Amino acid sequence: MARRGLLIILSSPSGAGKSTLAKRLRAWDPTIRFSVSATTRKPRDGEVDGQDYHFTDEADFKRMVADNEMLEHAHVFGNFYGSPLGPVQAAIDDGCDVLFDIDWQGAQQIKNSVLGPYVTSIFILPPSINELRRRLETRGQDDDTVIAKRMRKSWDEISRWSEYDFVLVNDDLDETDRKLKTIVEAVRMARVQQPDLQNHARALQAEFEEQE
Ligand code: ADP
Ligand code: 5GP
Repeated sequence: MARRGLLIILSSPSGAGKSTLAKRLRAWDPTIRFSVSATTRKPRDGEVDGQDYHFTDEADFKRMVADNEMLEHAHVFGNFYGSPLGPVQAAIDDGCDVLFDIDWQGAQQIKNSVLGPYVTSIFILPPSINELRRRLETRGQDDDTVIAKRMRKSWDEISRWSEYDFVLVNDDLDETDRKLKTIVEAVRMARVQQPDLQNHARALQAEFEEQE
């Protein structure tokens, strides 16, 4: 019996490091499928359509929502973002875990959906607000106005930390990366995630009886 895939949700204020951590997690275990969100935001330099995001327009985004093609969706920083349902369903049916880089609104919607029992949610906090600003600036992907907008939104985002199953303070990147992998390894060992154990336990009992 194959196990059902888990839904691993990473959220944080913008710049705290969730994309960096998500990339490391996928490199560590390539069987983890990344949920490529659809967004009406314009691509940043280096972002690849279909890989980082499905870049789309507002009309198409609204059509997908109306046709129930989104597992969740939200309006963030003036743009629409959403997680297409089809690839998520396919991944968990194949027994693959799915990684989401989404905000608290999306995390809440997935937790309240029929897939809620399969969710593990992880919140990434920055070590300080000055460091958060420094990371946004050194990332070099946004102009000053967008950075100011992201910083203003951080207060809201940070206030959601207690709604998550796990919380990591991303000070040292290697250390946070290690802790994140530990969480994934642990949740995969939950009893409900190991349906084959039932057969193993039965086989152990049979072996025991044979020896009596
Ligand atoms: P998010 O996806 O949360 O918006 P990113 O992963 O893009 O954040 O990280 C923002 C910037 O901070 C990037 O330039 C990244 O390399 C850097 N960064 C991430 N984690 C750390 C860390 N622990 N220490 C220092 N810099 C970091
Ligand atoms: P960015 O524009 O920096 O890529 O993302 C901005 C914010 O939108 C981040 O907090 C990111 O996690 C969130 N986000 C990205 N994709 C989705 C999505 O599909 N759904 C929701 N709810 N949030 C998303």
